Amino acid sequence: MTAIPDDERCYDVVIVGAGFAGGILAKELVSEGHSVLILEAGEDHGKTWETYRSYLDQYYLSLAKTPNSPYPNLPTLPSPSVLDITAVRGTEPDTNGYFVQRGPLPFGSNYLMAYGGTSLHWLGTSLRMMPADFEMQSRFGLGVDWPFKYDDLKKDYERAEWEIGVSADAVEQTPKALGIKTSGPKDSNDYFAKDYDYPMHSIPSSYVDEFFARADGMAIEVGEDASDTVHLKVSRTPQGRNSTPRSPKNGQGIPVGDEVRKQFQPRGATGPFAYMGQRCEGNSSCIPICPIQAKYNAMKTLEDANHIGKSLMETITQAIASKVELDENGRVSGITYKKYPFPGVPQYELRRARGKHYVLAGGAVENVTLALASGICKSSDELGRNLMDHPYMMTWGAAPEPVGPFRGPGSTSSYANFRDGGFRDKTAAFRLEIGNWGWNFAAGSPNSDVARLVEQENLYGSALRDKLYHDVQRQVRLGTLVEQLPRSTNRITIDPAYRTPMGEYRPVISYDLDDYSRAGLAAAYEACVRIFQRLGIKNHTAYSPSDAGYFTYEGKGYTFFGAGHLVGTHRIGTHKSNSVTNDQMRSWDHDNLWLVGAGSMPTIATSNPTLTLSAMVYRAARAITAAVREGGAK
Ligand SMILES: Cc1cc2nc3c(=O)[nH]c(=O)nc-3n(C[C@H](O)[C@H](O)[C@H](O)COP(=O)(O)OP(=O)(O)OC[C@H]3O[C@@H](n4cnc5c(N)ncnc54)[C@H](O)[C@@H]3O)c2cc1C
Ligand code: SF4
Repeated sequence: MTAIPDDERCYDVVIVGAGFAGGILAKELVSEGHSVLILEAGEDHGKTWETYRSYLDQYYLSLAKTPNSPYPNLPTLPSPSVLDITAVRGTEPDTNGYFVQRGPLPFGSNYLMAYGGTSLHWLGTSLRMMPADFEMQSRFGLGVDWPFKYDDLKKDYERAEWEIGVSADAVEQTPKALGIKTSGPKDSNDYFAKDYDYPMHSIPSSYVDEFFARADGMAIEVGEDASDTVHLKVSRTPQGRNSTPRSPKNGQGIPVGDEVRKQFQPRGATGPFAYMGQRCEGNSSCIPICPIQAKYNAMKTLEDANHIGKSLMETITQAIASKVELDENGRVSGITYKKYPFPGVPQYELRRARGKHYVLAGGAVENVTLALASGICKSSDELGRNLMDHPYMMTWGAAPEPVGPFRGPGSTSSYANFRDGGFRDKTAAFRLEIGNWGWNFAAGSPNSDVARLVEQENLYGSALRDKLYHDVQRQVRLGTLVEQLPRSTNRITIDPAYRTPMGEYRPVISYDLDDYSRAGLAAAYEACVRIFQRLGIKNHTAYSPSDAGYFTYEGKGYTFFGAGHLVGTHRIGTHKSNSVTNDQMRSWDHDNLWLVGAGSMPTIATSNPTLTLSAMVYRAARAITAAVREGGAK
């Protein structure tokens, strides 16, 4: 067998993956003077405005504007696609897409293998978790507690909000201001540190938001035997997209982490056209692509890391990390990667990257397939288990008057009232996101409306235009994001029978919804129906047993999709018997290995996970810095 050539340079830290987690970590580490190598499996289009345009061109040409539609999907480096999701029937797994789906329900989420990672097509919703979300076992006897509490992450949330550039107003975002009857009486106190505020003001509410706000104050019962009463309130959602920077009070700075920061400078597109995208201008295509990069993507942080790091920072793209190698003491001695010169062609050169410390930042699924393929992190048997997502259920209808959909970001507000409460002992918490893009996700509007009116109603010319205007202007949609509990049977494994043309393992996924989440989805549906009735919205929601994500609860049928929020597969914990890493994301088994990203989160609760995973990366970065300085000793 030919020996694999080692890369010449040995870095302080080798990171796998150039997404949110890899980007923020690299920036932190080079800022501390450490040398960093990033191995990124995907291509590096998007590094400059000219190459970013190739994504846009592809987006304009795509018929189905799915999350991955603008980006390369190479047979040699497949990304999971929502178009591949089908029902898992019988005992044979569904191997239709990149995921091998063992069911019983399909795992409907996706991500992106490209420089910048899934940040290229995320929506930008940037919520903090609730204090209760860190204490699910203590408060409700469910799931697990985190090894630290909300307060321990508060300063890192601040850092992450200023890195991503989150637009929101702190005064509107405390649990109390959101109208959440928290399960702990003091949860709303000190939710934000004194004088802290987000870097930019809230994105303005849409007309659709204002229409839904007419139901504010309405009482809705939730929980087993209607145990809790919730009073509705529409509130604006913190978002990682540029609005108006906040002026620090009295000319003083704003305390962020342990520093005082001056006014935030919104960052535009990466590359030489850096002035573009300084404000969200409502192009309404955040998923799958923001044409002007007003929405945050990880390429901005990576650009900073390159700028700060200079010769300390190197990135090798088109480099698939294939195996984590161990020495005789169980420490990582290198990462073998496949460097491919021609995208789509299964030819590559095998090389080995060397560092003092190694970090897996490839996302909750890819971190696990790489670790399983390498035979590492075995002692707890938790690796790959506890896969969670936000099962996403839509309800849609026709408002009694025009409400101006298809303007602005995909969602600007939600009913956050159901994110916590005593009802969580039996019923999963949820958030009702107000959609700004009509029935786009729900029914393929407006294209499907044109097809229906032409083919079924035989309309054309001004009659077609008038009817389209009438129908589309009234389209409303609520999206439920419900929490899942960690379940050991929801898991990722690998199987030598399923590999990519490059010889890499494909993720084999077993996934189901337990009664806790199903009860939450059923309660959310009832809440949506009540809101529709109050606002005079005609309900057009239709769930069919032929839908891939169809499930039943207490005799009624519903349909769910994935939210792209992949969480829990290499969770942090208090001991090597209950977790894959410690609370600083350092492997229990391999002294110089770290796993970061949403896979580290022990519970998912109701917040979209990226702000939390980013905050956790700051925690890991401090520990890695200390470990590099100590020379790696524990
Ligand atoms: C449609 C959609 C919308 C979303 N919207 C939101 C939202 O509004 N708010 C929110 O909080 N979250 C959202 N998410 C989730 C969010 O995108 C993820 O939580 C986030 O991207 C995870 O960051 P990450 O850095 O861990 O992984 P990623 O962003 O997926 O980056 C991982 C990187 O690692 C690379 N990589 C993987 N394996 C290897 C390997 N073996 N070798 C080399 N490189 C590798 C990949 O190519 C990729 O570049 C959304 C997701 C989707 C799909
Ligand atoms: S609404 Fe438009 S400009 Fe604003 S973030 Fe979305 S795509 Fe970008």
